[in-house]
Amino acid sequence: MSKLENHFETEDELAIGVDLGGSKIGIALVKKNGEIEKYIKIPTHAEQGQESTINRIKQGIYQVIEQKDLRINKISGIGIGAPGPVDYKEGVIHCAPNLPGWKEVPLANIVKDEFQIPVIMENDANVAAWGEKTFGVARGIDDMVCLAMGTGIGAGLILSGKIYHGKNNLAGEIGHIIVNKEGPRCNCGNYGCLEAYSSAAGIKNRLYSKINKLKADNQTPPFISDLDDISLVQIFKMAREGNEVVKDIVEEAIEYLGIGIATVINILNPEMIVLVGGLANEGDKLLNPLKEIIYKRAMSSHLPDLKIVFGKLGDYAGVIGAAALFWNYV
Ligand SMILES: [Zn+2]
Repeated sequence: MSKLENHFETEDELAIGVDLGGSKIGIALVKKNGEIEKYIKIPTHAEQGQESTINRIKQGIYQVIEQKDLRINKISGIGIGAPGPVDYKEGVIHCAPNLPGWKEVPLANIVKDEFQIPVIMENDANVAAWGEKTFGVARGIDDMVCLAMGTGIGAGLILSGKIYHGKNNLAGEIGHIIVNKEGPRCNCGNYGCLEAYSSAAGIKNRLYSKINKLKADNQTPPFISDLDDISLVQIFKMAREGNEVVKDIVEEAIEYLGIGIATVINILNPEMIVLVGGLANEGDKLLNPLKEIIYKRAMSSHLPDLKIVFGKLGDYAGVIGAAALFWNYV
């Protein structure tokens, strides 16, 4: 086989992107222009243990390759976006709150041993940021913060065109900015973190507390069914529909989110803030009040050229961003 065939450095070049989540694994064959050639989504079944999940990842990768009838040596590599802190140099997942039992897992090497092609692994927020920079809304932007809002709140930082990792690969823990010294307890053990107010888990916890307080005061709380299964999008909808208890908590969630983002803007002076995750569907209904708070709270000198936008890659940000680790990644 010629060298050219091995490296395949043309527009036809492909990479595989793996988006490892707590409940689903997305796997895609992605072209160098960011188009998805083939995409599958399989359950993680984290409860079946680490080995089972890793086997599912391997089988999923074989599935996207076989369906395209491609030989593995024509693919640049496999990019993986993983939850929790990741040592990107060693390809190790330190721990992952949504994957019970995963501690110091050398996933990149495990996958590399199986397929014998390069594997790069990054934290999922970094992957989303890199995807938006390479193929999404932040093309050509060298200083940006990609805020991933879901169960928790994390961020991928792109500074001077590169992913910023920090000394121990822990940079971007924006969810743990303390926005109120007397605020509710956060999963990290501290009090008053942004995540305790504005993440899905934080908002739900606050709803539970509020409902319990109303009950203790012999007041009738508003009917909210299955709080455990309710999504952030549904909670925002209830607030819009006028549910007073939900409305107060959601308004506060947006206010603290704005304060947290203003803090990040003051520190990093980014050109763009990209919001990704379930709330992207809220559009201007979220963006307008959020911008109002950010503009009020951040230093005015940061604001003239600042763009605050939703990501463009949607549900595919993880797989496209993971594949994009093979292109222009630094
Ligand atoms: Zn915290």
